[in-house]
Amino acid sequence: MKGLNRRQFLAASVMAALSGAAAKVAAAAGGGVGANNKSLPWRNWSGGVVGYPEGRLAPSSEAQLADFLASTSGAIRPVGSGHSFTPLVPTDGHIVVLDKLTGLLSHDSERLRATFAAGTRLADMGAPLKQIGQGMFNLPDIDRQTLAGACATATHGTGIEFKSLSGYITSLRLITPQGEQLDLDAQSSPELFRAAIVSLGALGVITRIEMQNRDPYRLKQRSWVEKTEVILGQFDQLAASHRHFEIIPLTHSDYSLVLATDETDEPINNPPASPEEDAAFGAAMRGWMTLPPEQRRPQINALAQFIGPSERVDESHKILSSVRANRFNEMEYSLPKEAGAACLQEILATIADQKLDVVFPLEYRYVARDDSMLSMSSGHEDHVALSVHRVASEDYRPYFDVIEPIFWKYGGRPHWGKIHKLGAEQLTELYPDFARFQQIRQDIDPRGRMLNDHLRTLFVGGS
Ligand SMILES: Cc1cc2nc3c(=O)[nH]c(=O)nc-3n(C[C@H](O)[C@H](O)[C@H](O)COP(=O)(O)OP(=O)(O)OC[C@H]3O[C@@H](n4cnc5c(N)ncnc54)[C@H](O)[C@@H]3O)c2cc1C
Repeated sequence: MKGLNRRQFLAASVMAALSGAAAKVAAAAGGGVGANNKSLPWRNWSGGVVGYPEGRLAPSSEAQLADFLASTSGAIRPVGSGHSFTPLVPTDGHIVVLDKLTGLLSHDSERLRATFAAGTRLADMGAPLKQIGQGMFNLPDIDRQTLAGACATATHGTGIEFKSLSGYITSLRLITPQGEQLDLDAQSSPELFRAAIVSLGALGVITRIEMQNRDPYRLKQRSWVEKTEVILGQFDQLAASHRHFEIIPLTHSDYSLVLATDETDEPINNPPASPEEDAAFGAAMRGWMTLPPEQRRPQINALAQFIGPSERVDESHKILSSVRANRFNEMEYSLPKEAGAACLQEILATIADQKLDVVFPLEYRYVARDDSMLSMSSGHEDHVALSVHRVASEDYRPYFDVIEPIFWKYGGRPHWGKIHKLGAEQLTELYPDFARFQQIRQDIDPRGRMLNDHLRTLFVGGS
């Protein structure tokens, strides 16, 4: 079996889990977090979070948005493309959608910076940037998120030299809960800027973002399969010698899919995924599901060794992000880099020891430190981002409930957009600037119109 890439690998895992597992009733099926029946529902991408807003506002200008905020007092939540797994968006008040505030607004060819309207999807940035001789430093696994939504949760890609997307913001425009327009950058308003670049929509609505870019470039991605123990032993060295390096460890197996990505001048060679390969791999994975988890290891190991290496070359934005057609829920924690390998090994051992019926692989990647107040990678050390997934039709709670305390044990910080149980008290311990952010939030939104129940748990606590 040759040429299996990350997209095929993950798609096959999900398909296997979907068809092999009994369809357990998930939160999504019954309505999900925040369900009631007052008005037209809003749902997130995975279907696990539901809200019933009183109204939806899609402003066609920043002035219209500012007027609305200045002339009303009810609850507001900005929404991007709904790709967060946590209930960041649901509200009884209005949701604000920036679908009409999109596209490239201006650029600086000398400094390689570009300003986009905040509702622009990441997928719609690569082509216009290339036309003006720029390219983004990095992208997350998928590119369906809006620029503002992705930055608001410190969404990141992989690479020891690359910060979360928010780390490349050079200036932004924030419309406060009172409708005041603030143009922020690190020079003129250093503290508020550090708070606003990752702010979960708690400080107001961001309407435009200027990013630091570089010249356009092409990437070559190679993937292969290796024993997890072996690759963890070489991880630091490989992460330092490749532009991007990550592993996708298989559950109930000794193996991981390995991905190494580097700049290249080679011609584009990125053929579409082979349906036959997908089908063959998916069928093999479905075979595992008929076995009890504790009997799967020999089969999965045999299949893993059968997967050949593959390569593809394309424009950077076409290699860094891919499409995830099958829905899932995810929990991801960011840990000090030195703690990553032990945490991953404990999670894999726990899945095996407790015979957890999980097919979906994990994801393990490095992210560079930054200095925003609430980025999961802020501080003095680089971080590892480690995630576990469950297909959306299954109840993720029993699995995530077992795994989450392992993340806590290693000092993990939860991804703001991914499922976790932490509140203000624990978060204050994890972030040196958390109390300062709470104070800034209180000052900018004293009546708490940007809060919902989830944000109250995060920023107010005790309720
Ligand atoms: C399939 C999939 C793959 C993913 N891969 C990755 C990955 O590789 N790396 C990673 O780090 N994360 C990843 N994520 C998580 C995802 O990137 C984040 O949850 C991201 O925040 C979602 O962006 P969104 O545009 O959908 O925003 P939403 O989920 O709609 O909103 C997220 C937050 O942004 C706020 N917000 C939105 N618009 C504005 C605005 N204009 N002004 C102020 N606040 C605003 C919202 O209020 C909310 O708090 C993935 C998620 C999915 C579903």
